[in-house]
Amino acid sequence: MRQTELLISLKNLKNNLQIIKSKTSSDIQAVIKANAYGLGYEEVVECIENDVESFAVITLNEAISLRKHTKKPITLLQGVHEISDYDYIEKYNLDFVVHTHWQLENLSKFHLNQSRIWFKLNTGMNRLGFDQKDFGDVYEKLKSLKAKDLIIMSHLAASSEPENKLNNAQIKLFNEITAGTINKKSLANSGAIFNFPNAHFDIVRSGIAIYGGKYLENGLKPVSKLRSKIISIRKVKKGECIGYDGAWIADKDCRICYAPIGYADGIPYFSSCRKININGKQFLTVGKVNMDLIAINLENDNSIKVGDWVEFWGFEDDLTKFSKNFDTISYQLMTNLSGRVEKNYLE
Ligand SMILES: *Cc1c(COP(=O)(O)O)cnc(C)c1O
Repeated sequence: MRQTELLISLKNLKNNLQIIKSKTSSDIQAVIKANAYGLGYEEVVECIENDVESFAVITLNEAISLRKHTKKPITLLQGVHEISDYDYIEKYNLDFVVHTHWQLENLSKFHLNQSRIWFKLNTGMNRLGFDQKDFGDVYEKLKSLKAKDLIIMSHLAASSEPENKLNNAQIKLFNEITAGTINKKSLANSGAIFNFPNAHFDIVRSGIAIYGGKYLENGLKPVSKLRSKIISIRKVKKGECIGYDGAWIADKDCRICYAPIGYADGIPYFSSCRKININGKQFLTVGKVNMDLIAINLENDNSIKVGDWVEFWGFEDDLTKFSKNFDTISYQLMTNLSGRVEKNYLE
């Protein structure tokens, strides 16, 4: 079998839940959209279910599959994408966001007594959500539905940047708009759990922190490790070129190794050198990433053998720092991994 795998540490996943719990007394909603940020939602849910109040996903298909694995509340973070989706919300007892007017059409015709409605406000991100001027009307309309509960939410645009003035402006506006309401409230994503305790309110919505993809300075641990076993080593002479389009030319004699992983596995496309670890030593890729292979320059290091692991990121690495090497962010590296990469879970 091809030895290209994502290892997932359930122990580190549990650790991260404990860290998050230690930072807040609010309920925790685990955001497990995009297959739990690429780590496999079934195993993640089984591991953390007892530590969280609810789960959140984006698509109805995600929610329906997830319903087989948990009885806890499941929130559709973008709400319905067409009105007929409310039939499935009824059938599967889902919670849902309403962020725009058309989602209210015919809402009173559905039986929502098993659903919590998440009323989403725009407080400055200007992405999804009702503006302040619409709050009163929409609030009255939503209250009149016989839903199980009505939660008021918004989303912070810059919670990973403690100095960014947008944060306090959004928190202030959220407080202003919701003043006098007795409803549960939710504003914080992972960044705000650590950077803005005054934004925790009743339910915090955590994604990347659970998976150890960011904010490691708070005691979170990386949950995943991506590695691929070397299948070939070739000696190359000075002046010879490597790979597609002859894009890289050896400036001295060297050894080039190949690992069976490429952009079809979710490695972001690159055509210049990227840093990669083998046996704890750092090397550089050469040439362009291929669909199924990556070439790495071992220079004159004779210690690396076929069968050694090329490590992209590991349990000791800060994925946020690593991602800069690939001109991307940890979120993308994790969620980009394709189904072809085998996932193996460690206790
Ligand atoms: C994805 C998402 C989150 C989780 O964000 P993290 O930065 O991964 O914690 C929270 N709330 C909403 C509305 C989201 O879409």
